[in-house]
Amino acid sequence: MPGLTHWHSPNFHAYYPTAHSFPAVVGELMSAGFGCVGLSWVASPAYTELEVAMMNWLGKLLDIPEEFLNCSEGPGGGVIQGSASEVTFVALLAAKEKMVKDLRTLNPELKEADIKGRLVAYSSDQSNSSVEKAGLLGSMPMRLLPSDEKGRLTSTALIEAMEKDKAQGLIPCYVVACLGTTPTCAFDDLSDLAPVCKRENVWLHVDAAYAGTAFACPEYRHLMKGVEHADSFNFNPHKWMLVNFDCSAMWVKDARYLVEAFNVERIYLKDKHKGLAPEYRHWQISLGRRFRALKLWFVLRIYGVEGIQKHVRHQISLAEYFEELLRKDNRFEVCTSSMGLVCFRLKDGDKPTQELLERIHERKIIYVIAGQFRGVFVIRFAICSRLTQRSDVDYAWQEFLSQVEFIIPSNKN
Ligand code: PLP
Repeated sequence: MPGLTHWHSPNFHAYYPTAHSFPAVVGELMSAGFGCVGLSWVASPAYTELEVAMMNWLGKLLDIPEEFLNCSEGPGGGVIQGSASEVTFVALLAAKEKMVKDLRTLNPELKEADIKGRLVAYSSDQSNSSVEKAGLLGSMPMRLLPSDEKGRLTSTALIEAMEKDKAQGLIPCYVVACLGTTPTCAFDDLSDLAPVCKRENVWLHVDAAYAGTAFACPEYRHLMKGVEHADSFNFNPHKWMLVNFDCSAMWVKDARYLVEAFNVERIYLKDKHKGLAPEYRHWQISLGRRFRALKLWFVLRIYGVEGIQKHVRHQISLAEYFEELLRKDNRFEVCTSSMGLVCFRLKDGDKPTQELLERIHERKIIYVIAGQFRGVFVIRFAICSRLTQRSDVDYAWQEFLSQVEFIIPSNKN
């Protein structure tokens, strides 16, 4: 189809996957057909109630601690937002409200504006552009701290930056840890970062936009060790969990901070059912809400836990297969490999790697994009399409081989 980039071609290996499945498409179609706007529980009760149930199912699927779930006794809960960008921003605003409240409880003469003007946020230099944007939108400087050799934010870097800020009269307020960074799918160590956040009374948000889906498989859950100490957690079913864009799952340990930050009432929004179900408009930016829970319900019912696990494991096995192919050819070097993403380069350096990518782009047979890791130019190869099979990985590999031949002929090795 002209003018469209074929994100669901098995030869598309750029960015990260964007999810796509027939059940999700049917869910989208039906919700478009219903055409309601869920601005409150009473405006369309099934919108809210199915969302509550789906966020509980999803939380259990990933084994998120119980206190984050709507079905727990406490003030925690889950909500579906449009994007990870929105979630990071919404969590930042909640963190801001919490910090103002906490500091004014200790010291009532402090002025709200004085506190807000001194708040600072932190993440790693590997975090997604949306994290920096959240800082810009929320008027909170976002320090992008140097990551370690594995692309992780460390407590040492975090403590150093916080101490420097505090010495200047600033107030650490918000930390965004990444489980599956965009450049290389690196995982921050939550159990290393959480004690620092706790000590400083700083809100810890976890961005697992892509890699969060992998936690449906028990063998990857060790990568979220320490998640119980986070204040909010997010992953995108619209990336890797077969739910068409848009569907971003957010959980908070204490939803009251969101409601306090976003609650604006009007007479036309009031109804007698108040308090029986979450009024999700207080958890997000917009007033109107889509019926995103329906496509999630279709996917969870039709694929089931085992179907989702199978999908994740299959995609990771394809990335591992591609890594094996790279390692067998001594012209290539694997820089990182994590989940469904392999970053590699030519051993001869940046220039030949760049030339290889240019050739691939010129031919338009497969699609991959550039990346950078620890100062070197890399090619990012991600398993994206639900349809990609081993033969498609072979096909991509042959494409790389055919072009590398012009740069470093195999008989010279
Ligand atoms: N966080 C990470 C780690 C990502 O990889 C991405 C997108 O690739 C985002 C956030 C932004 O996601 P969204 O488009 O849902 O805002």
